[in-house]
Amino acid sequence: MSDNILKNYINGEWVASNATRTLDVTNPATAEGLAKTPFSTPAEVDAAARAAAAAFEAWKRTPAAERIQYLFKLKMLLEENFDDLARTITTENGKILDDARGEMRRAIENVEVACGIPTMMLGDFAEDIARGIDEYMIRQPVGVVASICPFNFPGMIPFWFMPYALACGNTVIIKPSERTPLTMQKVFQLLEKVGLPPGVVNLVNGSVDTVNAILDHPLIQAITFVGSTAVARHIYSRAALNGKRVQAQGGAKNPLIVLPDADLDMTTKIVLDSVYGNAGQRCLASANVVMVAGAGKTFTPAFAEGASSRVVGFGLDKGVQMGPVISQQSLQRIEGLIQKGVDEGARVVVEGRDALIPDYEKGFFLRPTVLDNVLPGTTVAQTEIFGPVMTVLNLNTVDDAIAFVNSGQYGNQASIFTSSGAAARKFRNEVQAGNVGINIGVAAPMAFFPFSGWKESFFGTLHGQGKHAVEFFTQTKVVVERWLQDWSRQF
Ligand code: NAD
Repeated sequence: MSDNILKNYINGEWVASNATRTLDVTNPATAEGLAKTPFSTPAEVDAAARAAAAAFEAWKRTPAAERIQYLFKLKMLLEENFDDLARTITTENGKILDDARGEMRRAIENVEVACGIPTMMLGDFAEDIARGIDEYMIRQPVGVVASICPFNFPGMIPFWFMPYALACGNTVIIKPSERTPLTMQKVFQLLEKVGLPPGVVNLVNGSVDTVNAILDHPLIQAITFVGSTAVARHIYSRAALNGKRVQAQGGAKNPLIVLPDADLDMTTKIVLDSVYGNAGQRCLASANVVMVAGAGKTFTPAFAEGASSRVVGFGLDKGVQMGPVISQQSLQRIEGLIQKGVDEGARVVVEGRDALIPDYEKGFFLRPTVLDNVLPGTTVAQTEIFGPVMTVLNLNTVDDAIAFVNSGQYGNQASIFTSSGAAARKFRNEVQAGNVGINIGVAAPMAFFPFSGWKESFFGTLHGQGKHAVEFFTQTKVVVERWLQDWSRQF
C-alpha cells in the first residue's frame, strides 16, 4: 500500500490534511495501493470556504471576458496533458483507456462551452416599461459553490460544473470521490499553472463528514452533487434545509427496448457497449434490455455471443474491452445480485462470476453476465446493479415496454432500437426519462445540453452543463430605473 497521503489545494497552496482517517486508493485491476485519501476535517472545509469567500468579490468583479482567459489556458493544458490524465483515470477507476480518453474529451468540451459565458450570461433590457422608466435583468454569481463527485467519472463530472461556475464569477470547492481522487490532483496541478488568483478554486479530499461539513457551511451558497440516489436525497434535503441551492444527480437503472425490426449488427454492437462499457459503471449504462414481440429470439443469442467474447483485463493493456469494477466490496455486491436474480427465476445465459484474469488475479473482475427471462417487479429488474450485468426481459408489445419503463423509480435514460419512426416517436413522447436514445445506447448530452435526469435520478430543477449551469451558477437581479429629465440644470 502507498504511504502517499494526498494533499488538499486551498487558497492557492497544496496543504497536508490533519485527518486522522484515510482510505486507500486502489488500482482495481491489480489491487495495488496508489495513494491514501485523507478524510479532511470540518476545519479544513472551513479553511477552503473562507479562502473561496475571500476571493469571491474580486473574482466577481473581474470581467467575464477576462475570467474566460483562464479557461482558454486550462483547455490548452488539458489538451497537452490529455493522455496522462486518461491514463490516471484508467489506473484509479479501471475503465479502458479509450473510455478514459472519451471522458476527458467530454470534460474539455465543457471548458470550451463555458468560454462562451460573456454571451451566455447576458441579461435582458426593456425600455419604457412605463413612461420614462426602464427595466432590466442582470445575472450575478451566487458566491462560493461546491461540487461533490462520484467515483465513476473522476475526470469529467467535476467539469460539468467547475468551468461554468468559474466563468460566471463564482469561487469553487471540489470534493472528488475518495475512491478516485488522483485525476483531480492532476487537474489541480494544471489549474495551479493557469494562475487563477488564490482561493478561486479549491480541492478538499474526504468522505461523509467532509461532505456534511460542506453542506452545513454558511459561506457556501450552492451545491452540486452526482452519485447514488440515497446520497443525492440526503444532499438535497440537508443543503436545502441550510438555505442553499442544490442540484443533485442520482442513480439509474436504464431500460433499453429492442423491437424485432432493429438492425441486428448495429444494435448488437451498441447495446454491448452501453451495458458493458466501464464495466456497467456508467449512470447511462443500459441495464434492463427489453425484448419486444419475440425480438429476443434473434437478439438475445447475438448479445450473449458478444458478451461472452468480450476481452476483459487491465484497461491500459492493448485489446482489452472491459476492465474491473471499482472494489472488492462492489464485486461481492454485484455477484450477490446475480445470485438474487437466479433465485428469482432468471436464466443465466452468460456467467460472469468467479472471473480469473491471467496476470490480474487480485483484481476486482467479473466477466460480462447475461440474465434472461427476468420478470418486471423482481429485485434485479429494479435495483441499480452498477456492474457488467445485462438483465433481459421479454414483453409482448411496445405499450407493455413503455409501461415497464415508466414503472421504474429512476428516469435517467431510456433507449429504443427500431427501424420504425412511428414506434420511436411514440417512445420519445411517452417515456418518463430525461435522456432518451433512439438507436443510441448511451444518450449522453453534449456540453451545451443539460444532463436531464428525471424522477429519482435527479433532485432539483436546473441540471448540469450548458444553459442550465449558467442559470444555476447565477442569480438574477432585476432593476427598475427612472431618471428625472431636468433639462433646466446647467452642466
Ligand atoms: P456515492 O453516492 O457513494 O458517492 C458520491 C459522493 O458522495 C462521494 O463524493 C462520497 O464521498 C459522497 N458520499 C457518499 N456517501 C455519503 C453520505 N452518506 N453522506 C454524504 N456524502 C456521501 O456514489 P458513487 O458510488 O461514488 O457513484 C456511483 C453512483 O453515482 C451510481 O449510483 C451512479 O448511477 C451515480 N451517478 C449518477 C450520475 C448522473 O448523472 N445521474 C452520473 C454518475 C454517477
